[in-house]
Amino acid sequence: MSGSLSVVGLGPGSPQQLTPEALDAVASAEDFFGYFPYIDRLNLRPDQRRHASDNREELDRARAALAMAAGGRKVCIVSGGDPGVFAMAAAVCEAIDAGPVEWREIELSVVPGVTAMLAVAAKAGAPLGHDFCAISLSNNLKPWSIIERRLIAAAEAGFVMAFYNPISKARPHQLGEAFDILRRHLPGSVPVIFGRAAGRPDEAIRIVNLAEAEGGMADMATCVIVGTQETQLIERAGERPLVYSPRSWPGPKGTAAASAEGKEAK
Ligand code: SAH
Repeated sequence: MSGSLSVVGLGPGSPQQLTPEALDAVASAEDFFGYFPYIDRLNLRPDQRRHASDNREELDRARAALAMAAGGRKVCIVSGGDPGVFAMAAAVCEAIDAGPVEWREIELSVVPGVTAMLAVAAKAGAPLGHDFCAISLSNNLKPWSIIERRLIAAAEAGFVMAFYNPISKARPHQLGEAFDILRRHLPGSVPVIFGRAAGRPDEAIRIVNLAEAEGGMADMATCVIVGTQETQLIERAGERPLVYSPRSWPGPKGTAAASAEGKEAK
C-alpha cells in the first residue's frame, strides 16, 4: 500500500505567513522530514514523528521520505519559504525520476509558500513590480562561471534580481564578486535591498545603492534584491525609503502598453 508525501512551504518565518493549506498538510501528516529549525517551527503533536537532518542532505532526505511514503506512511517534508524555490520539491522530483517505479504511485502534493524574495520585496515597497529573476549565488550545485554569466545576462536584459544563498562561511567572497560584476554593467545609483530574516523577530531591512553595496552586508539568512536603472527610491521622513520598479517602461511605447494593460488587470 502506498502512502502520501506532501512537500510543504512554511513561508519565511512569521506564523501569519504560513498558509491554511500548509497547516492542513502538517496536521494530517504522521512523519516529518526537513532541516531541524523548520521542523522546530511546527507545534507537532506527540504522535507525529520528526526525522530532522542537516540542511545539505537534500537528495538523501527526499529518498528517505519517499521510501517511508512507499511503505504506507503519511509523510511531510518541510521547506522554508516555498518548497519549489531552491528547496525540497525539486529534490523530491529528482529522486522520483531516478528512483524505483513504485515511487511514482505515491500520492504527492506540493504546497506553496511565501518565498523569501516576496517577503523582502513587500517590506521595501514593490521592487519586483517589473520583470525580475531569482538567482541562487551558491556554487555548491552549479559552477561559479554559470552564475557570472547569468548575472551579466540579467543585468543587460534589465531584470531586477533576487539573490538567494548570497554568502556562507564556506563561500565568503561571492556576493562581493557579484556586486563587482554588476557595477561594470549597471549604474552605481541602482538600489540594493538586503532583507535579513524577513518575517522573523530578528528581521532587518537595509537599503543602499549598488556603488556602496558590500558582501559583508548579508549573511545566509539574507535575500538581496538588486534593482535596475528604472527602479525608484522614495525618501520618507522618519521611515525607511520605499523602493519600487514601475510597471510601465519609460517612454511613449511603454506608456501606451501600460495603459492598455491597466484596463485588463491590476
Ligand atoms: N525555499 C526558500 C529558499 C531556500 S534557499 C524560499 O522560498 O524562501 C535559502 C535562502 O533563502 C537563504 O540563503 C536566504 O537567501 C533566503 N531566505 C530564506 N528565508 C529568508 C528570510 N526569512 N528572509 C530573507 N531571506 C531568506
